[in-house]
Formats: sequence, structure tokens, C-alpha cells
Amino acid sequence: MSAYTFIDIPFNFRHTCWFCGEPASHSFDFPKNPNNLRFLEHPPMSIPACSECAIVNVASDVSSIWAVRDHVKRSIMDKYADHLAIGQNWTEEELKESEFSGALLGGFGESAWTMYLIAKDRLSYQGWTVSIDSMLVEWEDESYGFEFDGVRYMSLNTCLEHLIKALRLDAQLLPSLIDILGPERLDYALRIAKLNKAITTFQREKILDEIRQQQDDKQDIAQQAKFAGDFSQVEEVAVGDGVATVESIQWALKNRITTLDHLCREEDAFFDEFAHLGGPQCYMNYYGLQLYFEARQNLAWIAENDPNIEWW
Ligand SMILES: [Zn+2]
Repeated sequence: MSAYTFIDIPFNFRHTCWFCGEPASHSFDFPKNPNNLRFLEHPPMSIPACSECAIVNVASDVSSIWAVRDHVKRSIMDKYADHLAIGQNWTEEELKESEFSGALLGGFGESAWTMYLIAKDRLSYQGWTVSIDSMLVEWEDESYGFEFDGVRYMSLNTCLEHLIKALRLDAQLLPSLIDILGPERLDYALRIAKLNKAITTFQREKILDEIRQQQDDKQDIAQQAKFAGDFSQVEEVAVGDGVATVESIQWALKNRITTLDHLCREEDAFFDEFAHLGGPQCYMNYYGLQLYFEARQNLAWIAENDPNIEWW
């Protein structure tokens, strides 16, 4: 029996846990204690949940079902930290090649990869839009979280905490590396952290100094090349259904064209320069460059997707 009105459940989600996507046989009554109704930002509700998610404890002053979901995901993450680490430590191929030897996999046996996938899917599962009696329950932040390696985490910090715990990494190295390299290079930072699990403070500082130096050098090289008019390191960028070619980007850099507005004013110059490619190809190149400049108006896009970040 549930204490409150159930949230609306789309037909294809009946018997599905809203929190993790597993079969649901229970309900999560929110709030569990009616005395905590006063903390809620939305009406009380019952949510279909699996036996594990239904019993997760949340603080009494939790104000929304999405905050509850964060608690539930965190508890899944803690409980299945070892399963999630499988995907971080091995690829599916490596597991197959190892013939599931007991030595490598400990107690996981043949199902190791499956267990990893199940835990990963449960963690990433996003539920469905919440409404009660067809009334939408508003939620402000749709773009929450941080995605890494196919898993959606509540935040970058949660992701780092999880990786540190699951892979038994040095607690300070990975966050410090991310400070220097940025979240978009987590993959690279993680490789360094995995190779340096047990380190002294001195060793950690040495690694961080080196990475800082590398970053500075990289920016220096780009700066110097730019002053020398050498744009040979520029990379092609695919945006939407277009491609900004290396030649187009180099042309823009040489002519110090860095914005969409400026590009539009120099459209004729572009078509003159690339007339030899023929009309359609020339147009496609211009279109690709336009899309690239348009995308570059978004700082988050630049940070995540622009391989030429140092060049502009
Ligand atoms: Zn569940």
C-alpha cells in the first residue's frame, strides 16, 4: 500500500523503478514521515521503486523528489562501487582475453561485465517526467550532472569521489589534475591517477608541477606558432551536419576572423579564396565554418568539443 497518490506512470514504464529502471515491486513514499511535508517544494507522492531503492534513507528536510533521486543514486554508487570499477579497470575484450581467471577478477567470475553494465545502467537511468493526475511537477534544473564514460553522475565532484573510492586512487591527485587540465580531460587525468595510486605528498607535487609545465608549454607552442603564422596543427571540426575543414579554419585564423559576424562580412573573400574547389564544395566549406563559429559562441561547447581551443 502506498501512502500518497502515485505519480503518473506511462504504459511502457509500468512496473519500472523510477529511480533505477529495475523492475518495481515497492513504492517510495515521499515524504516517508508525514511530519516532513512542510519541507516539500511539491505535493507529496508515491513513486514506483524496486526493493533496493524503496528503502534508501534520506534526510528529513529533503525538499524534492530529485534530491531524493540523488541520495538513491549515491547509495547505488556506494553499494556497487566494485562493480562499477570493473568498467574502469578493464575493457570487455580484456575480460574475455583473461578467460575470467579467478586471479584477475576475484569473486566476480564470468558475469563481471554484466554486473558492471547493470550497475552502470541503474546509475545512469533518468526515470520519466513526473506528473500527478496529469499535472506536471516542475523541476528547474534539467541539465544537471556530469557524464563520464557513459555514466551520469550528480556532479563532477561526485564522479571524482566515486572514481577515487572505486579505484582506490590518491584522494588529492585526481581533483588537483582536473583543476589544471579541466573536466574535459578527465580521461587523461584518470590515466595518470591510476598509475600513481600510492604516492607521497612530494611525489604528488612533482607530478602536478610537471602537468602544469606541460600545459604551459602547450599554450606557448600554440602562441609562438600563431605569431609565426603557422597553423599546421589546426584540426578539422565536425559540427551538426557540417564540417569546418582544416583549410577553412586556417584561412579564418590567418585573416584574424574569429566571430560569426566577422565571417559573414568576409563571405565574398572566402568564396574567392576557395573558388578553385568548385561551387558546391566551396559552399559546404563555408557552411561548416559558419556552424563552427556559431558553436564557438557557447563557452561550454568550446571547453568540451573544440580541438583548436589554443588557436583562437
Ligand atoms: Zn530501483
